Parts: sequence; structure tokens; C-alpha cells
Amino acid sequence: MSLSRVVVALGGNAMTGPDGSARPDDQRSALTAAMEHVADLVAGGTEVVLTHGNGPQVGNLLVKNELAADVVPPVTLDWCGAQTQATIGFTIADALESALARRGRPRPVSAVVTRTLVDPADPAFDRPAKPVGRYLPGPEAARFAALGQDWADFGARGWRRVVPSPQPCEILDAPAVRALLEAGVVPVAAGGGGVPVVRDASGTLHGVQAVLDKDRTAALLACVLSADTLVVATDVACAVLDYGTDRERPIGRISAAELRGYLAAGHFAEGSMGPKVEAAVRFVESGGRRAVITGLDGVAAGSAGQAGTVVEP
Ligand code: ADP
Ligand code: MG
Repeated sequence: MSLSRVVVALGGNAMTGPDGSARPDDQRSALTAAMEHVADLVAGGTEVVLTHGNGPQVGNLLVKNELAADVVPPVTLDWCGAQTQATIGFTIADALESALARRGRPRPVSAVVTRTLVDPADPAFDRPAKPVGRYLPGPEAARFAALGQDWADFGARGWRRVVPSPQPCEILDAPAVRALLEAGVVPVAAGGGGVPVVRDASGTLHGVQAVLDKDRTAALLACVLSADTLVVATDVACAVLDYGTDRERPIGRISAAELRGYLAAGHFAEGSMGPKVEAAVRFVESGGRRAVITGLDGVAAGSAGQAGTVVEP
């Protein structure tokens, strides 16, 4: 019998403090705690691939760019993505290797700087909508808008830069991820959804100024690696219906078709639970055996269909 293969997508709470703080120590301790749960899954004999978000980390790099622009040249968003894949990736590797060693089940863990191909004709490029970085007062935002960036008015909180969030089309480094898996290494891949790149007519790749949704890329990664299960680990135990009302109902085991209906009916907030539900439904609709949305402490049980929102065909 072949091993069960699980892609685990880690959300912000696996990488930042409870209040969202992203100081290096906060990131390290959040990841250390998260890796205890992942180690339980790996030590139990499951083949695991990890992926993760990077919103707060990229936000911090963008602020550094702004503040230091007169001293060091600002770097583009694709570079920020690659940098955060590296820092989060090696921190995960340290934490997970040590959690596995403590369980008497040592395994190497390795992070792949991962590029994700996007379509230059993706409609997202025509209407940048994903906010990144910090809020600024109007006049300061105007200074950056004059340099060609898109900024949007968020009312009382101020202005924020908005960038396109295109669909991931192909995970270009998937063969390296597969080779690591086959060599018994636990790969960390496609952090932040991958570094978005486009291919020009001559075949050359170029980084683009966009951000990818890590849940969407996680679903694609799980498909491409023929994983049985996709686990989206976040800061709530499951998805709920009528979220934020007094009629909230947790969703346990559910079919992809029924969950798609609730998605269309608007039960899941855009930009938070929406992309997770969409990723879960898409993975199962494309032949995945099971997708699970649950908390970090539900990663091992959820993979077995015993915790969280469990989506099956
Ligand atoms: P992550 O950083 O893990 O990607 P997000 O903050 O983007 O997490 O999404 C998780 C959040 O989605 C939850 O903390 C919750 O506040 C919010 N949310 C929105 N709609 C729902 C829903 N229907 N059920 C559960 N959580 C929801
Ligand atoms: Mg979050």
C-alpha cells in the first residue's frame, strides 16, 4: 500500500503571534508550535508537503522598502516573495526537523524557492484588488501612485497599495518538490502561493508585480503531486455557515457539491475563508480524495477526516 500523501497549507497563525505580530521571535515561536502538530502527522507515517502564506512578512518588507528607499534600492514584489519563502522555509525546516528528532523519527526538511506561472491575460491584471503593505495617509499614497503603483482608499483607515492576484496556472518547480518527496525529504514549497512569473514569447520567465493566493496554489500543488488530501490549517476549527450571526453552524463532513452551493450563497468571506473553501472544493472536484479546513491542532486528526470541515466527493 502506498503512503498517504498530504499537502498542508499553513495560515498566518502558524507564522505570527496571536495579535498578528511578525517580529522574528514571534514568527519563530509560532512556527515551532505549529511544527509540533505537523510532526505528529509526519511521524505517523504520512508523506507531507508543506506550503504557507506570507502576507505579514511581505508587508514588513514593503515598509522597509519605503523607509529605506533613499539608501538602498527598493526591491520588487516578486523578490519580496522569494525572500519570505527562504526565511519562512528555513525556519520551518529547523523547527520540524527538531520536532521529528525529538520523536525519534528524524527526517530532513527542505525548502524550495518556488515559481508559479500566471497568465499575463488574467483579468486580475486589469483590476488590482489585493491590498498589500500598510495603510498610509492620502498625500503619502499619492507619492507612490505617481511612481506607477495602484493605491486604493480604505476610508478612515487610510490608503493601501493594491496589486493583482491572478490565478496560479503552473507550479514550475513541482518536479523538484516531487524529487524531494521521493528522496524521503519533507518539502516546503510554493510559500505565499509561489513567486508569480510570466513567460514571454521567447520562453524567458519574468517576475511580475502581483501576489498569489496561497490557498489556491495549495490546491494546485496537491493536484500536481497527486496528493490524497489537502489540509488548510488556519485559526478556526472549521468553516461555519452564517458566520458572525447568531445562526452560526459549524460544517463537519460535507460533499464538494453541497459546499460549492454554500460558497455561491456567500457564506464565506472573500479574502479569508472564501479562498480556503474554494481551494477545498476545487481539489476534491479535480479528483482529490479529501480536503479539510481546520485549526493547527487539528492537522493530524483532520488529515484522517476526524476533525474540521471535511470535504469529500
Ligand atoms: P489564514 O491566515 O489562515 O489564511 P484568514 O484570516 O485568511 O486565515 O482566514 C481565516 C478567518 O476566516 C477566520 O479567522 C475567520 O475570522 C474568517 N471567516 C470568514 N468567514 C468564515 C466562515 N464562514 N467560517 C469560518 N471562518 C470564517
Ligand atoms: Mg489570518
